Amino acid sequence: MKRFLSVFLAILLLFTTVSILTPGVSATAAAGDSSNTTVFDRVTQSLRTAFLRFFEWLRSLFSRKTAPEEIEIDTPPETSAAPTTTTAPPESDPSVICDSRPSDPTEGTSAETTLPATETLAFRADWEYASFSAIHTGSVTLYRSQAAQRKGRTVCVNAGHGTKDGDTQFTLCHPDGSPKVTGGSTAAGAIQATAVGGGTTMLDGTPEAQVTLSLALLVKEKLLAAGYDVLMIRESDDVQLDNIARTVFANNCADCHIALHYDSSTNDKGLFYCGVPDVESYRNMEPVKSHFEAHTALGEALLQGARDAGVKIYRTGRTDIDLTQTSYSTVPSVDLEVGDRGSDYGAAAQGKIADGIVRGVNAFFG
Ligand SMILES: [Zn+2]
Repeated sequence: MKRFLSVFLAILLLFTTVSILTPGVSATAAAGDSSNTTVFDRVTQSLRTAFLRFFEWLRSLFSRKTAPEEIEIDTPPETSAAPTTTTAPPESDPSVICDSRPSDPTEGTSAETTLPATETLAFRADWEYASFSAIHTGSVTLYRSQAAQRKGRTVCVNAGHGTKDGDTQFTLCHPDGSPKVTGGSTAAGAIQATAVGGGTTMLDGTPEAQVTLSLALLVKEKLLAAGYDVLMIRESDDVQLDNIARTVFANNCADCHIALHYDSSTNDKGLFYCGVPDVESYRNMEPVKSHFEAHTALGEALLQGARDAGVKIYRTGRTDIDLTQTSYSTVPSVDLEVGDRGSDYGAAAQGKIADGIVRGVNAFFG
């Protein structure tokens, strides 16, 4: 027993030392300025990180993790019945106010027309949950609709994956440091997950990130034509923004967040959205507590839109997964798995999915 205790303390000391020497893990205020933190704060944060790493390591000893680079949901847990609640438009004020926008928030069309058609936005370290992100040097682009009938809403379109070396860094699954309540790409019970996964590969060898991008570009054009402003997270092979950074951008610069993915199964099983699991502790954690119903409303609207557009749907169209995205979302937010490795991703198939998404967005915002 004495020997066991010695080994335990030695390992903990090792983790503490590593944490003090490498303080940049997401649990610390990595994105904030550290100039005004005291030595006590640093030691406290290092100890906290050491404990998190230690227990994560212990957990990894006792659980067989799925492939760490895989963010897909190949074998989802039991799908819950589609909720009976119907879509309700959000009550928030109509037009998004992104802090990166130029000044002069004057209402009215004359001021609106002075805004540029496109705008590059940088990540801000003072945004809520920004300090939990590990990768955030990339920027995003806001496109303002030039359609005659503008909706006054901004939709964040997030092409899944496409962050070089994103799977070599880790972030907290939940802002309160609690463990994941369901499996998925990262096992249930994990405290940390890869900052952003590399994604899967279509059966013909094409990377998922390339396929989600082509879909995102289609969705962008259709949303702009329909009068929505669009916040594009990624428009090339690589954007240095992890899942938390992408979510924080959506929280601050958009009215809703739609992440696009293809699942890692191979049987072309159909589209589904990831719902917030019905686990009390998780649904009582902020910001999930205040927003999970809005996530469901958006998910159901997109699902119905896809159905109406003739897209194949997987079972009920909803699978409950505890995701980093929804664990940090403060605007209606959905991970949409539009197909899988075996799905047709040609222009016609993706066009149908994009039409379904626009229908869903229209229904959601009324
Ligand atoms: Zn994916």
